[in-house]
Amino acid sequence: MKLYIVADMEGVAGVVDSEQTMGASAYFEAAKLQYAREVRSVCEAALNAGVEEVYVNDFHGNGLNINPEILPRSVLVIRGGFRPTSGYDMLDETFSGLVLLGAHARTGTSNAVLPHTYTGRVTYEIFGQPVGEFDILALLAGEMKVPTILISGDSTAVEQAGTNMPSAHRVVTKYAVNNGGALCIHPDLVCEALREEVTRAVKNIAAIEPAQIAGPTQLSVKIADVNLAPRIEWIPGAKRVANNCFEFTCKNMREVANLVYGTATLVECRF
Ligand SMILES: [Zn+2]
Repeated sequence: MKLYIVADMEGVAGVVDSEQTMGASAYFEAAKLQYAREVRSVCEAALNAGVEEVYVNDFHGNGLNINPEILPRSVLVIRGGFRPTSGYDMLDETFSGLVLLGAHARTGTSNAVLPHTYTGRVTYEIFGQPVGEFDILALLAGEMKVPTILISGDSTAVEQAGTNMPSAHRVVTKYAVNNGGALCIHPDLVCEALREEVTRAVKNIAAIEPAQIAGPTQLSVKIADVNLAPRIEWIPGAKRVANNCFEFTCKNMREVANLVYGTATLVECRF
């Protein structure tokens, strides 16, 4: 049995501010350590529960947040900065489950810790329903028949995840207080909860349905800064439906994921 973990930092215990997720500060160093502890907890519990192979995608910032020495020796880590996918590098049908660790809510969410969807400058919808990074990844994995077995993050992110992955196990790491803070659970308790919940999830894996959308998928891309609209118009198939809103029809989730990540990258690009 193979398990794939996408690890992000905004949703780990104690993280409430961007000072903790980037730059050169003692806050960032402490957050990276907790991020690694949470990833280690999931890896160890999964291996103990019978998982044979674990891949960890260090999908935050420059992808160099985890010192692999802290992890069990059999774990493989995908590291490094810009990669061509939105977090699913090397994910395929051979995996039995996906874990979304340290997730954050979608762009524009109120009462959420550091909400964004690859960027804070775009909001995305599939068939009119808002989607975030965790939705895209869960639906993409689902297209490969890989169920999302566990999601962890702040209370709002975990609640949002109920839309597309109602049967995924959940670990809440903190309760958002407006958008600038959170009521935080002790980091040790979060690690313990992750161990317990991933053990349950692995045992229950056959009963967890993959998240799925069938057939052509309508993606809408709404940009915060209308001056960036010409960049979206560069993309073949873009249909402008409002000053700041575009629609695409995608043949599958891989196309959706690539368009989401591509448009986020385009609007973030500085010339
Ligand atoms: Zn992140």
